[in-house]
Amino acid sequence: MKEFQLIRQIQRGTAVSCSTDADHGVRLGIGDDAAVLEVPVGQHLVAATDTLNAGTHFPDDTAPYDIAYKCLAVNLSDLAAMGATPRWALLSLSLPGADSTWVQSFIAGFKSLATDHGVALVGGDTTSGPLSVSLTALGLIQPGAQLMRSGANPGDLLVVSGTIGGAARVLDMLQTGEVSSHRQLLDRPQPRVKLGQALVGYASACIDISDGLLADLAHVLEASGCGARIKLEQLPHGEIFIGLEDRLKWDYQLSGGDDYELLFTLPPHHKEMISTWSRELDIRLSIVGEIEDAEGIRCMDTDGALYDPQYTGFEHFGQRS
Ligand code: ADP
Ligand code: MG
Repeated sequence: MKEFQLIRQIQRGTAVSCSTDADHGVRLGIGDDAAVLEVPVGQHLVAATDTLNAGTHFPDDTAPYDIAYKCLAVNLSDLAAMGATPRWALLSLSLPGADSTWVQSFIAGFKSLATDHGVALVGGDTTSGPLSVSLTALGLIQPGAQLMRSGANPGDLLVVSGTIGGAARVLDMLQTGEVSSHRQLLDRPQPRVKLGQALVGYASACIDISDGLLADLAHVLEASGCGARIKLEQLPHGEIFIGLEDRLKWDYQLSGGDDYELLFTLPPHHKEMISTWSRELDIRLSIVGEIEDAEGIRCMDTDGALYDPQYTGFEHFGQRS
């Protein structure tokens, strides 16, 4: 298949999520030298980009459907962490001679998540080379409304969405040849877009957990100039951890990446909003600790004793940076 045929296939295949109606503000989409997008008056543009390389950011045997899904998901997760509303995407594909069946499956994965979130594919680039997918997501936000890593204050509650540690556990199982019925935790993260939007005006700081709870919390603490206490028994875990000993589970939850849940800090007077969001958005929200004055992160085990995580890096999980 030639490059232009491939682009045509992508253009046709994503047509539903690439509607050019007024809602999407696509004045010119795929097919010219660049796209023209209309940013509504009074709104600001939010931009994020992330690349996934085969073998590093997804296992080599990952289905094209899931590669596309994940690539869009991780970028929408960045927009979610800012409280933005996703609108457009640009897709840069490096393919080692992909066939039309591969592209078909890739498009289906992209379209599935893009349709859920009203994202229009407006352009990109297609080259031949090692398998690599890079996506730029563009979204909108009210001026000044963005959630940032800075802004957390001592006394704020530390809240996590969904469950954490599962994606890293799946990856470890794959690497040791075990079969996991939870593979979707790794392949199809769910960007918490609606939650991010709901947090605007309430959360004092927010980040998405891509590199692990400790690593990403550290970014918030550094930007905010404070420390935190984590209660290990409050860390939310899914079925994949049933039967695993606490310490191993905690290490995954503290250091495992790729979950793409939101971690946010909430002033205590907004505490009652947690159950409201949880109910309205049908999402699990867990208070996992508190922001403190003293620098650093203190993890408390079930007996209230300080716990020293065994692994803080990615080496253990064989992951990326
Ligand atoms: P140029 O050489 O001017 O950059 P291209 O031939 O690379 O143009 O692309 C032609 C059109 O197809 C452009 O609108 C571009 O944005 C779009 N396009 C190319 N590759 C992709 C892709 N992987 N996904 C979406 N749009 C693409
Ligand atoms: Mg050109």
